[in-house]
Amino acid sequence: MKSLNYLNKYLYKYKGRLLLGVLFICFSNYFGVEMPKVVKNAVNDFLGELNHTNDFQSILMLSLKLAGIYMLFSLLKGFFLFLTRQTIIIMSRLIEYDLKNEIYDQYQKLDYTFYKKNNTGDLMNRISEDVGQVRQYLGPGLMYTINLAILSIMAIYTMMKINVGLTLIALAPLPIMSILIYKVSSKMNALSKFVQQEQSMLSTIVQETFSGIRVIKAYLRELEMQSRFEESSNAFKDKTMKQVKINALFMPTIVFLIGLSTLLAIYYGGLLTYEKIITPGDIVAFIFYINMLTWPFASVGWVTSIIQRASASQERINEFLKITPEIQNVSTEKLEDIEQIEFKNVSYQYAENLPMVLKNISFKVKKGEKIGFIGRTGSGKSTLLHLVMRQIDPTIGEVVLNGKSLKTSNLELYRQMSGVVPQEVFLFSDTIKNNISFGKIDGEVTEKELIEVTTKAHVLHNIEAFPNKFETLLGERGVNLSGGQKQRISIARALIRKPKLLVLDDCLSAVDTETEDVILHGIAESTEDQITVIVSHRISSLRFVDRIYVIEDGEIKEQGSQAELLALRGIYADMYEKQLLEE
Ligand code: ATP
Ligand code: MG
Repeated sequence: MKSLNYLNKYLYKYKGRLLLGVLFICFSNYFGVEMPKVVKNAVNDFLGELNHTNDFQSILMLSLKLAGIYMLFSLLKGFFLFLTRQTIIIMSRLIEYDLKNEIYDQYQKLDYTFYKKNNTGDLMNRISEDVGQVRQYLGPGLMYTINLAILSIMAIYTMMKINVGLTLIALAPLPIMSILIYKVSSKMNALSKFVQQEQSMLSTIVQETFSGIRVIKAYLRELEMQSRFEESSNAFKDKTMKQVKINALFMPTIVFLIGLSTLLAIYYGGLLTYEKIITPGDIVAFIFYINMLTWPFASVGWVTSIIQRASASQERINEFLKITPEIQNVSTEKLEDIEQIEFKNVSYQYAENLPMVLKNISFKVKKGEKIGFIGRTGSGKSTLLHLVMRQIDPTIGEVVLNGKSLKTSNLELYRQMSGVVPQEVFLFSDTIKNNISFGKIDGEVTEKELIEVTTKAHVLHNIEAFPNKFETLLGERGVNLSGGQKQRISIARALIRKPKLLVLDDCLSAVDTETEDVILHGIAESTEDQITVIVSHRISSLRFVDRIYVIEDGEIKEQGSQAELLALRGIYADMYEKQLLEE
């Protein structure tokens, strides 16, 4: 349970609500405990009254008076119960909100390497499932525990005042109930873990079916998908059925044990009444108290398992919050401009047991220059760009910015000055305008700017053809755009921040050579104070660059201007001829 200590800072933050909640629990229970006393007096008064008179009027008055008091107490008890929930449950929701934000913040801080290692399902679980479990502890968990403590003290004290022996005998079955319910809850939790696993399996199948529906239909795999779903659905059903069976034992157990308590109270209470030690009203009050204590005692078992689950969840959360990103911004130094980027003998491997994907890469690029990297698929081009953007750090060697290691440069400002068009385009489910404005660092994006960048990216004419123009909503991952259109919107997004460093990762692969020509012209226009790095496996994309590096198997095999490379008659010249022939 140690892990839950982490939440104390939040409990402290909302201590006002918590203390108020405890106060309300006290009030609510006070009236709750008073109610059976009213009934007890009523029973005794009625018995007394019936022995003396048969006056209908006076009995009616008596009942009205008692009913009135009982009602009033019920209302007050209910009112304070309402306030309890308003304070403690709301507190738990506020903490849930804070905790979710804290976790989300951490997600944003963590680097690319972390995301490569963890799958989306697990990441989502942390913020939804685990936080949910923790909230159960903070809300119902705390509330019922406090309630149990206060009510037990008040009710048992009142019962003891009536008769100690009767109290002990009548309450004996309740702790057994607590233990049984704890056992049942634990079993349920163990099962619910399996149920959840099946559930997430089922969701994965459904999700994949939706996103892959075109492939499924094209390959006529509907029936197969259906049987996969059925299989998973069956597994889910089986696990749930087990849960239902155990759940079915829950209520009968409680009812049986309360029945037993009541029976004992009546039997032993009857004997005591016969001996005139207590009144018949006391027995009635006892039955009320037993009923009142049922839920709190039942909740002991339930709450214990809630707390166990919450602490397991919190432990996962704590572990996650402790992770420090490998890539961190350590500098607050001002970065005026991007003058020069240099790779000094950089090698990189994704993991220790994997081969080096980049070997001994060295090059230099200055402000105003455009360089290009060309190489076959898997040769390490994207990895190289990740290094340029410091999404990863070199395994060996150093990336140098303006003569200073990139590791000690102000990463935040560096990234603010750079515009990246990644190989895999990602567009948000939002308007075209917002998708492009996403690239702008601060300030409103004007219509003029939008038109300027979309003209350069050669996508304006496409956007204007949509009825809603820039306000056109893109579906999930922008499904209503063609691959080439997405790439060009992504380029516009990078251009709108007027980057000092523009990095293009094979982002013209889905456009034809004519469109490519227009875009490259657009980009080439305003590059005197910009560094441009273009990666491509197409010769034509690199026709405006000053220097070309040919990468093969993670090594720079050839470098120079296009003319120089052609004269070399090596890999580049070979590619050139082949691609020229293709065209
Ligand atoms: P393409 O032209 O197809 O985009 P590329 O030149 O950009 O290829 P990279 O994406 O840099 O190639 O990949 C270089 C090598 O690194 C490949 O062999 C790839 O399998 C490997 N690789 C890439 N990402 C990872 C990763 N996260 N973990 C392990 N290996 C990786
Ligand atoms: Mg790539």
